[in-house]
Parts: sequence; C-alpha cells; structure tokens
Amino acid sequence: MAERTTSDIARETLKQLALRRLAPTPEHYQMVYAEIAGVPAASLGFPEGPLRAIMRVLPAQTPPQIRLLEQFGAAVHRQDWTALQSVLVGYANLGLHAAGTALPPPEPEALQVLPDDLAEQLARLLDSLRTILSEDDPRVHDMALEVTQLLRAGQPPSSTLALLLANFSYRLSFSAEELQAIRLGLLALLHLVFENISALSPNDDWLRGQAEALMAAATPPLTLRRLDDVQRRLKDVIFKQTEARARSNEAQEQMKELLATFIERLTRICSTSDQFHLTLERCADQIGQASRLEDITPVLHEVMNATRAMALDSRVAHEELQTLRTRAEEKRAEIARLQEELDQASALARHDPLTGALNRKGLDETMERELARARRLGSPLCVALLDIDNFKALNDRLGHASGDAALQHLTEVTRSVMRPQDMLARYGGEEFVLVLPDTTQAQGVQAMQRLQRELTTRFFLQNNEKLLITFSAGVAQLGADETSTDAIRRADQGMYLAKRAGKNRVVPA
Ligand code: GH3
Ligand code: MG
Ligand code: MG
Repeated sequence: MAERTTSDIARETLKQLALRRLAPTPEHYQMVYAEIAGVPAASLGFPEGPLRAIMRVLPAQTPPQIRLLEQFGAAVHRQDWTALQSVLVGYANLGLHAAGTALPPPEPEALQVLPDDLAEQLARLLDSLRTILSEDDPRVHDMALEVTQLLRAGQPPSSTLALLLANFSYRLSFSAEELQAIRLGLLALLHLVFENISALSPNDDWLRGQAEALMAAATPPLTLRRLDDVQRRLKDVIFKQTEARARSNEAQEQMKELLATFIERLTRICSTSDQFHLTLERCADQIGQASRLEDITPVLHEVMNATRAMALDSRVAHEELQTLRTRAEEKRAEIARLQEELDQASALARHDPLTGALNRKGLDETMERELARARRLGSPLCVALLDIDNFKALNDRLGHASGDAALQHLTEVTRSVMRPQDMLARYGGEEFVLVLPDTTQAQGVQAMQRLQRELTTRFFLQNNEKLLITFSAGVAQLGADETSTDAIRRADQGMYLAKRAGKNRVVPA
C-alpha cells in the first residue's frame, strides 16, 4: 500500500473529529492524528529531526565523547527527555575536566562582535567628535571616551555597544543644540561689537563703511573663508583706528600745552598792566602832591621806566602770542590732515567702497592665497572676468547714480548666487573678477551661465523701470605654472571674444 502523506493524515484526522463529534481542540487533533499515523501520541511534539542534526556535529574523538554520543542517540531514539538532560550535563562536565588537557579548546560563545576595522573607524569618528564637543559638558566627553575605549578593547560586543551608543547620541543631541545656540549667540555679539564701532565714530565715513562690511561678512552661513575675511578687515580697522587715535591724541596734547602757555602769558600781561596802572596812579599822586621839580623828576623817571618795561613786555607778549597763534594754526591743520588721511584710508583697505567687493589689493591677496591652496591640495582653481554689456549707454540714459546702483545690484545678485567660498572683486569700472576655488573650467562656465540666468530673472529696478543687466565673461582655469596675472589676462581675452561674438555670453579661455 502506498505511503500516506502528511496531508492525507491531516484530512482523515479532521474527518474523524467530525464523525466522533469531538471539539476541534489542539489536544483532540494531536490524539486522533497520532492514532491515524500509528505513532505514540507523545512523539508528535518531540523534535527528533533537529536533535539528530545536533548529533551530527557533536565531537566523537575521545572515548568519553564517543560514549556520550551513543547515549545521546539512544535518548533521541527513545524520545526520552530525562536521558537527554543527563547526556547534556555529561557534555558540560566533559568540558570542565577537559580544561588543561590536549583537547581543542571549546568553541567561544557565539557573541555578535564588531569587526576590528569597523570598530577602529568608529573610534576615530568619536575621537574627532570629542574635539569639537563643548568642554562645558564633561558628561558627553566621558560617554564618548567610554564608547571609544570599548571599541579599542578588541571585539566589542554589539549589544553593549548599541546601548552605549544610544545613550551617547541622546546626550549628544542636547550638546549639539547647545553648541548651535552658542554659535548664534556669539555671532549676535559680534554684530553688536561691529555696530558699536560705527556708533562710536559717527562722523567717520571710512570706519562706518568698514563696520557695515564687517556686519555683512559676519552674517550666516559662516565659512572659514568668510571668518578669515572678517578677521583681516577687523585687523585693518583696529590698526587704522589705533594709529589715528595715537596721532590725534598727540596733536591734542600739544594743543593743550599751547593753550596753557597762552593763558599763562595772558595772565602775565594782565598783571603787568595792573602793576603799570598802580605805578601810574601812584606817580600821578606823587606828581599831584609835588611842589618842586626835583620831586617830580624821580617820579617821571619811574613812569618812564614803567612805561618802557610795559612796552617791552607787551612786545614780547605780542611776539609770543604771534608764535603761539602760528603754532596753534599748524596743529589745527595737522588734525584736519589726519582726519582726511583716515577718510582716505579706504584706499588702503581691501574692499571697494561702492560695491563692497574686493578691490585690486584684496584680489591680489586672495589670488595669492587661493593659488597656494590649490597647488597644495592639487585642486582646480578658476578665474572669471566679466564686463557689463552696454554700461555706458545705461549711464548716459539714466545718469551716473543709476550706473552705481546697477553695479551694486550686480554685486548683490552675484553674492547670493555664487557659493560662499567664491570671491568677487571689482577689477575696473564695470569689470569684475570672480575667483572660484575647487572649480574646473567647465564648472566655472556653468556657474557663470547660472549667474547670467539669475540676472535675467532678478531685474534691476530703477525709477520704476525694469532694467536687464547682462554681461560678457571669459573663464580660465589656472595652469600648473601659470601666474594669476596670466590667468586673468586669458579670462580677459575670453571676455573680449564673448563681446565680439555678440555679448551676453560666457567663453572658456
Ligand atoms: P561694452 O558692452 O562693450 O562693454 O560697452 P560698455 O558701454 O559697457 O563699455 P565702455 O567701456 O564703452 O564704457 C564703460 C562705462 O562704464 C564708461 C564709464 O563711464 C562707466 N563707468 C566706469 N566706472 C563707473 C562707476 O563707478 N560708476 C558708473 N556709474 N559708471 C562707471
Ligand atoms: Mg569695460
Ligand atoms: Mg562694458
């Protein structure tokens, strides 16, 4: 007779349950199933297959191992849990007794561990994180250290690691929030300082201009480059301010000294003339009372002497006063000159006062720095030179002030479109140079075309008239040994070709 399949037996079981009117509980099902299959009811729950699979991988090299394996087989055959239990205890004891014998060591517990290279990578990540974490939260440092130590101890268990990492990231999230708040707070403070600089010297155009540029430069998003820029501008300001302050203090001191001498001289003149008056009065008395010429003669002598002395004193005083006046005039002129010098100091600064873009000096410094960086890192560096199209016509039609406003508009749009690390310099009247770090020529051309598109969408509004500003540009990628002057010259040639080809286009040079 053909062997019955499991599903045949199951179907028959269900039929019997219905015929015998038995409730379809698991116990009834198991009982009837065993009966139909012809096996003892208890054997149905016995995992004979998996146990035999275990048996196949158990060691059977030494006599005790062979004996235990036989006992294991017999227990499975009899489906005897108690016998199996004692076999397992036998194996456990065997492990204990075998320690120190020539037997191979027992297999280590199958614990989930992290591979060493991954653990080291994680540890390094945590090392870097620790350096940027705020020192104000020692707990988060300790937690990072704890995880790092576990990672470096070798074969870190995943479960412990997961727990420690979860705690650490929870704490870290607070720390990061706090760091962000501190950063914003410091920035606000910086703005306040800059505002104060301009408030302190409201009459000083140069200083106010610099303070405004500083505020713009210290506006998020901050990059290291922009911070660098802030630092350099601030050094400029501090240097100029200190120098001017020292010189004008000196000039003021000298003025004060002059005034003191002046007053002293005036007092002396007054006291001399007082004395002269007294002498004259006394002499007048004596003359009035005198009845003899002999009596008058000495008095007249005295009057004459006093008058001569008075005249001498006045002349000396007059000459001294004249000198003082000349010197005072000189000092006043010097103070005025100093003030003017300070106003003109923007020429020494690195930024163009109209647009706030870098000036030639700023561009030279930037190019030097970026060229050195690009050569050090082996990264590409691009310069683009742009010239506004038909700018003269705009100036002629709307006036010079509108032309100035157009230059400012172009600068603003460029700033918002280009990346923070790109730098804009005013190269000449309506010519600008863009320094684009980490940029190939193809990327530079794309960036400049993006700027052109943006300029077409952001109109320049003047007297309610929407004006479209376009430019022509050349883009050059710095060659291995090329100087920045040569690269800018190439970009200029590209710009010239763009003009010749009909303007409003970008040409790789
Ligand atoms: P093209 O498209 O060929 O470049 O023509 P263009 O008119 O732009 O060029 P051109 O060189 O003939 O004229 C440039 C004008 O830019 C002339 C000058 O008066 C003006 N300009 C230069 N600097 C300034 C400035 O600071 N402010 C203003 N408003 N105009 C300036
Ligand atoms: Mg031009
Ligand atoms: Mg032009």
